Amino acid sequence: MSKSSSEVRSIGIDVGGTKILGVALGPTGSIVDAVRLPTPQVSDRDLGRDVGTSVANAIAQVITTLADRVGLDPKSCALGLGVPGMVAFDGTLVFAPNLHGAIGANIAKLVAKRLGRRDVAIDNDANCAAMAEHHFGVARGADHALLLTLGTGIGGAAIVNGVLLRGSNGFAGEFGHLMVDPRGPNCPCGSRGCLERFASGAGLRHLAETAFTSGALAGDVAASPETLLIAATNGDQGALAVVDRFCWWLARGIANLVACFDPSIVVLGGGVIEGHHLIMGPTASYLSGELEGGALRTPPLLVPTALGKDAGAVGAALLGERAQP
Ligand SMILES: [Zn+2]
Repeated sequence: MSKSSSEVRSIGIDVGGTKILGVALGPTGSIVDAVRLPTPQVSDRDLGRDVGTSVANAIAQVITTLADRVGLDPKSCALGLGVPGMVAFDGTLVFAPNLHGAIGANIAKLVAKRLGRRDVAIDNDANCAAMAEHHFGVARGADHALLLTLGTGIGGAAIVNGVLLRGSNGFAGEFGHLMVDPRGPNCPCGSRGCLERFASGAGLRHLAETAFTSGALAGDVAASPETLLIAATNGDQGALAVVDRFCWWLARGIANLVACFDPSIVVLGGGVIEGHHLIMGPTASYLSGELEGGALRTPPLLVPTALGKDAGAVGAALLGERAQP
């Protein structure tokens, strides 16, 4: 036990496809301590037997380790989970292509049972990240804000009239699955040509492969989104052209969202954005040209996330605080 409980107000867990991050929030919202574990990968053969068991065990382990280190009682402390998929209000993970070992499981109930508590607050990870940016980060004070996290896919969330938009089932904000090209590549959601096939890490990969096939990009540059972004940063013209195309798709997707939500700010996060200054400028510039009303209107601010990789876990902790009786 390294910290006293008076220093810590809640625990938030961000469950990703590859790792589980747990944070303990201090009185001012700063991260007092953090614990990470790899997300258990469940083979297709074991899916029927496991149904969330391995994932819930790992989440509970992160929580008990962190709670012990900061001096909180995992049975009663403010605690929230952010998970990568469509979460019903009762805590069931209805659909999650990046956490398929837990699809259909009520992750909140499974974790609560392991900790000996009545319940655990749960929401979609992008919803949690938006709550964190709205409370502590760049969207503080904004009544109308959107958040897009560009990782392998796209996570999305909307703040409308100062409140997180959840929808009738809890599924609002799945912006990555807006179809932008009916003839586009297949998407893990079962549809095709979804925005995230063009404007996420997977999108960057697709655009790079297309450029490689047409001879516009060298094979070593097209190998992965990371190699492409490094080459573009170093001034490789073929890579810069792919990044430019990527920015157009992202701007086009955001323009569609602006037509629906009229936000004052759009927060962009995720691995594709962080550390890569190549994306924000061209995307903002394309966005002004793509908006309905064009130069006659003020475009929303396009800003990178303030909380970065921690946003989901910090928002999950906030969710847990708000659910406390
Ligand atoms: Zn899709």
